[in-house]
Amino acid sequence: GGQCFSTNKKSSLVGFRDALFQGLAPDGGLYLPENIPILWDKLKYKDLSYPELAFEILHPYVDGEIPKLSLADICQNAFSFIVHVNKIKKDHYILELFHGPTLAFKDFAARFMARSMEYFLDNNSKELTVLVATSGDTGSAVASGFHNVDGIRVVILYPKGRVTPIQERQLTSLGDNITALEIDGSFDDCQLIVKMAFQDKDLNESIHLSSANSINIARLLPQSVYYFWAHKQISRNEPIIVSVPSGNFGNLTGGLLAKKMGLPIEKFIASTNKNDVVPEYLDSGKFQPRPSVRTLSNAMDVGDPSNLSRIQKLHNYDMKNIRNNIMGIAYTDDETIDSISKIFSENQIILDPHTAVGYAGLLDYKKEFNSMNPGVVLSTAHPAKFIESVEPAIGEKISIPKRLQHFIGREMQKIEMSNRMSDVKEFLLTA
Ligand SMILES: *Cc1c(COP(=O)(O)O)cnc(C)c1O
Repeated sequence: GGQCFSTNKKSSLVGFRDALFQGLAPDGGLYLPENIPILWDKLKYKDLSYPELAFEILHPYVDGEIPKLSLADICQNAFSFIVHVNKIKKDHYILELFHGPTLAFKDFAARFMARSMEYFLDNNSKELTVLVATSGDTGSAVASGFHNVDGIRVVILYPKGRVTPIQERQLTSLGDNITALEIDGSFDDCQLIVKMAFQDKDLNESIHLSSANSINIARLLPQSVYYFWAHKQISRNEPIIVSVPSGNFGNLTGGLLAKKMGLPIEKFIASTNKNDVVPEYLDSGKFQPRPSVRTLSNAMDVGDPSNLSRIQKLHNYDMKNIRNNIMGIAYTDDETIDSISKIFSENQIILDPHTAVGYAGLLDYKKEFNSMNPGVVLSTAHPAKFIESVEPAIGEKISIPKRLQHFIGREMQKIEMSNRMSDVKEFLLTA
């Protein structure tokens, strides 16, 4: 089966199961697969449904740990929604990754992870507590993905007053095995508490803790699959150009893995908002993490993207290599709004602010390099999730899909808490 190594190189190799439950390697590094098989040649002409394609791509990484039939079930269950490729005009495509239950691309990873964990836990296992800090989308995808999964309780930490009203409803209204803690602090405080929980000896002796944050390899692997899907749907021979609206760079790193698996990709465009440490790094060669600033594309407000060490490792730490493969471009909020308006008036397509950043990146790349190859923008969220900024940009009302509407009137169940680790710890030990 597939073994994973840590980017810090000090921990030993582990299988998929251990990497899944550990999240971060003991040496503080991130896991990556030791062997990345070339799969494209074999998959290119096969007519497969999305779950079948996911099975073919994920199987080598879990071989020997999850039997084929169980993996096929996991894929059928996890990827049970459509993944549409929308052709906007010649050589411009939008890969719609927002048709899952929470209308953001994080559903792919969260649903695969929940079902993989469920597979490994048996009736004798101690209950698993999955902790997750969220600024919005991750928490709702994790809550929905793990809802009613046996043997797992999920505890979500979110910053008071910093998530949108719909996001808060998505986090707090499921109940059952999902508990939402409204932390009187920032997202950084939430993330710090989660980190401290993992280092807390008593806590780890008393309860079985795991995390669902974006560093988990089980979140990365399923994010390779839709790059293959897009290429197959476009069904042309030339390498594709992909623009990825990025924050923590998990989505883009999924694409890098796909390319290593043989998928023909001419270029990755790392499209960001003003949190532009990666475009800056590509430009200057210096990586200077800093506190994030708030923008309209808030799921990309990340000042210290954790997947950079994976990106560097996947290019053998060679800056020239990285620059050949990835181009970075950053956009202001004003440019994001312009991008939404322009695409709406030219193509009657409504994009959310994250996707709009990605679309701007594709247009600028095509202009600069005059490339005729098919360009794909990863559309990471449904515009209705960001109605506050999208409606004024297009000057029209947008309709809210049933799946979102259904959250609007629901009762919230949340526990208010300070930003002190000791309070969260007491809750985890006694609840
Ligand atoms: C999380 C998120 C992103 C950023 O993805 P990364 O993998 O963190 O780069 C972009 N758009 C939306 C809507 C998201 O929820």
